[in-house]
Amino acid sequence: MVIKSAEYLISNVDWEKCPVADKPEYAFIGRSNVGKSSLINMLANQQKLAKTSGTPGKTQLINHFLINKEWYLVDLPGYGFAKVSQSQRRSWEQMIENYLRKRANLVNVFVLIDSRLTPQKIDIEFINQLGEWQIPFQLVFTKADKNTQLETSRNVKAFLNKLRETWQFLPANYVTSTVKKTGRDQILAFIEEMNAR
Ligand code: GDP
Repeated sequence: MVIKSAEYLISNVDWEKCPVADKPEYAFIGRSNVGKSSLINMLANQQKLAKTSGTPGKTQLINHFLINKEWYLVDLPGYGFAKVSQSQRRSWEQMIENYLRKRANLVNVFVLIDSRLTPQKIDIEFINQLGEWQIPFQLVFTKADKNTQLETSRNVKAFLNKLRETWQFLPANYVTSTVKKTGRDQILAFIEEMNAR
């Protein structure tokens, strides 16, 4: 897919205030600092569409972007901050649950996983929650340039094996690096294919 345009539209706490659900939508989520903003910027071919490395936990909003005037890209607030209060966490959970379960045009959630790490409980729990809600998702292993290929593939395998404990079928996954610009074409090809349906 060639990216011809990428525009920021709006940021919301409330899923009901999101743009009219008349276009296919793809959401990105993961632990804070997983590389979500960098990935979104790489996909959209823009340096500053999503903000990179802002103060962790500050951007607790559902951010909508319009790509090629054809589909919505959604930057969801990351999970897993050590420093947020119980009540902040609860409001995040409520906002995300509402958005994920009620947004009618949501085609797929890309869950970002740091490829340098062994399987993290918080990621597995979030994915299992998606399963309970029957939300379609795929995995994106980020920052692949930071390790050797062997280490990255070991971590990917370990993560998928961990999922096998609870999942019969494994989701598709992508290995990405915003430094080496890898994984971009594959993710955009999937989106293009889904948009054509
Ligand atoms: P976010 O908090 O999930 O939006 O993460 P950011 O996109 O702000 O990235 C967090 C940090 O990881 C920043 O310092 C990025 O430059 C770095 N980073 C993100 N993606 C990559 C990557 O693919 N390779 C490398 N080497 N660093 C990355």
